[in-house]
Amino acid sequence: MLFMKSNLRQVSLYLLAGCLMLGASAGLGIFSGVLPLKQTVPASVRTETAVFVLDPGHGGEDGGAVAEDGTPEKNLNLEIALRMGEIADLLGYPTVLTRTDDTMLYDRYGDLEEYGGKKKTYDLRNRLRFAEESGCALFCSIHMNKFPDVSCSGLQVYYSPNAAESSSYAALLQSYARTFLDAGNTREIKKATSSIYLLHRIRLPAVLVECGFLSNPEEREKLQEKHYQLQLASVLTAALAEGAEAICTS
Ligand SMILES: [Zn+2]
Repeated sequence: MLFMKSNLRQVSLYLLAGCLMLGASAGLGIFSGVLPLKQTVPASVRTETAVFVLDPGHGGEDGGAVAEDGTPEKNLNLEIALRMGEIADLLGYPTVLTRTDDTMLYDRYGDLEEYGGKKKTYDLRNRLRFAEESGCALFCSIHMNKFPDVSCSGLQVYYSPNAAESSSYAALLQSYARTFLDAGNTREIKKATSSIYLLHRIRLPAVLVECGFLSNPEEREKLQEKHYQLQLASVLTAALAEGAEAICTS
């Protein structure tokens, strides 16, 4: 597949951009919330290049998995997705986020007057609707894992069973993570079942990244570090960019 033919020069450029981000961020803090993140896609970009739809999992009343120290995954998901959005903007890829703050999205489209008992369903349904209304897009949901066996660790990518490109796109992300973040990560990509609502229903090329295990003390500590969050965001965005190139030229 075109996806898997890694263009070394292109990858290097993206990673260089990531390194510059790391340096700039550490030294000057200039990227903290300065670059604007749009929540609507300008019509002018829709047919030119794929839009990255970044989806920080959970939010608001829905914290997602909670680490032993009380950190909910929703905060880490948002931090990483925001950094990814900033890097994608820097690289010139149109990007939208399903959320840019700590909220659930159940009432985004105002379907009901009372959402009691249906918040999670509507939250996921609205993320799906938002993504599918973004035109030619790549969807990437960001989450954190948790498992009773605390020794489990490592980023893992799930893919949608619908659009054919999704598995190649997931393989690309998984391989970037192995190459640039953790050479010891032997995890394989997995096809999403109906238990992953969004991926199972979405028609766009779509992946979900479980960035690591909050139940593993070492990995949790790493995931909480700003430096690692930016490194992770740089690597994931570089992989998305390579995937987008392939989709746009196919
Ligand atoms: Zn989650």
